[in-house]
Amino acid sequence: MVDIVTRAEWGARSPKSGYTSLSSTKGVKVHYTGGHVDPKILDDHKKCVALVKSIQNMHMDGNGWIDIGYSVVACPHRKVFIGRGPKHLPAANGAGLNTGHYAILALVGNSGLTVPSDNQLLAIWDAITYLRDKGNAGKEIKGHRDGYSTECPGDKLYAWLKKGAPRPGGGDTPTPAPPKPHTPADPAALVVDGILGRKTISRWQQIVGTTVDGDISTPSTLVRKVQQILNAHGAKLKVDGLGIRQDDRHYETVEALQRYLDSPVDGRMSKPVSLVVKALQKRLNTGRF
Ligand SMILES: [Zn+2]
Ligand SMILES: [Zn+2]
Repeated sequence: MVDIVTRAEWGARSPKSGYTSLSSTKGVKVHYTGGHVDPKILDDHKKCVALVKSIQNMHMDGNGWIDIGYSVVACPHRKVFIGRGPKHLPAANGAGLNTGHYAILALVGNSGLTVPSDNQLLAIWDAITYLRDKGNAGKEIKGHRDGYSTECPGDKLYAWLKKGAPRPGGGDTPTPAPPKPHTPADPAALVVDGILGRKTISRWQQIVGTTVDGDISTPSTLVRKVQQILNAHGAKLKVDGLGIRQDDRHYETVEALQRYLDSPVDGRMSKPVSLVVKALQKRLNTGRF
């Protein structure tokens, strides 16, 4: 979830006139504030709000712009302030360069706070996700200095952009740390009892990377993910998040699960003890699915 700070929440002034509309862009350009950024903002989000307001004042009163020039501002508390917002022409990229890219400001400067924290980089990624979702931003992730003579966004951020803007923690989407295998003596290992209970479901969720709540809802994101994995191994299931229940009834998904786990195939997860659940518990105890 992108943690948005609305214009009302940060106390933005209204734009002096209407924005120019944009239907899409080639991507985004990342900016820094330049100048000095007080490292104390890291401990106090209110200081981010004050900084964004001062930038808006500078752009409106100093530059004579209709509003803050940036589309959004990404702060080190992993929050995304709405500036001009998606589908509106920004002003920060330089004349002629605003229709091509949305402008994202990161709160780092060229003195004081100069190194973007992981949360700052994640906030930039959240801003990109938001502009792609709401503003049809394309794939490009560039710096202000690409195609324009400026130091912006500073060497640290620019080096990160040049590396392809790797998301801290790896992956293009947040990925959970790989679970460690459990040995049978390990207290965290599942008891192989053939009962599809909360512990087994939680471990399954943890391993395939869905929300861990120990529940299979109807439909369930765990089951959807499992159906995708089974389809990648030759099953032809409808990915609907349904069809894994320990109730003795026949389900296509259970049948595919039985094939996948080399368990006898009858499409039923029998009550109270199921062979395929035992096979699943053994598999999950290896730390993989
Ligand atoms: Zn810039
Ligand atoms: Zn903040």
